[in-house]
Amino acid sequence: MIDILQLPLGPIETNCYIVACQETMMAAVIDPAWDGRAIAATADERGYEISHILLTHSHFDHVGGLADVKAETAVSIYIHPEAIPMLNVATQAANRWQMNIPEPPEPDEMLSDNQTLKVGNITLKVLYTPGHAPGHVAFYLPDYNVVFSGDALFRQGIGRTDLPGGDMPTLLASIRDRLLILPDETQVFSGHGPATTIGDEKRGNPWLQG
Ligand SMILES: [Zn+2]
Ligand SMILES: [Zn+2]
Repeated sequence: MIDILQLPLGPIETNCYIVACQETMMAAVIDPAWDGRAIAATADERGYEISHILLTHSHFDHVGGLADVKAETAVSIYIHPEAIPMLNVATQAANRWQMNIPEPPEPDEMLSDNQTLKVGNITLKVLYTPGHAPGHVAFYLPDYNVVFSGDALFRQGIGRTDLPGGDMPTLLASIRDRLLILPDETQVFSGHGPATTIGDEKRGNPWLQG
């Protein structure tokens, strides 16, 4: 069985997720958005051992807690290589918005499209979904009909494409070719806001009609 904890953190209420395998009690942190010590403590309270830190992309609001989760757990940070340049300037990006985040540590492992990862007994598949930010990926759990869509797809919305490296046609192609092809009942856990399903977004998302 799987346990998914949604933790909206930081000034932009960015969703950090703890995804735990209840058979092995191993867990991944997806997007340690802010307040890394609280993320690690939340996993700890439930008896979960963090085994992976996974990044959908490297906008500063998704990595504000990265340094502290790494310090607390010493486990590997996984990122798509195209997202590294932005990770390296995340502190400066935060400063431009009058915010401070601890300097992100160096990532450890590179993600590639269609790669699979094991968190305990849970299989996660990497879906390369650029357009909102360079090197953006989603994490798909085929055995559980769940996808973590980062900032590519939201309930009734899509990611902004006006930031550096953003591109609307690329984002729409990522959503159409990689996310909307998943089964309708797939639950979508986004980087901001409430969860939805692939079927609901296919039918009702105003950005994806026609
Ligand atoms: Zn973003
Ligand atoms: Zn975001």
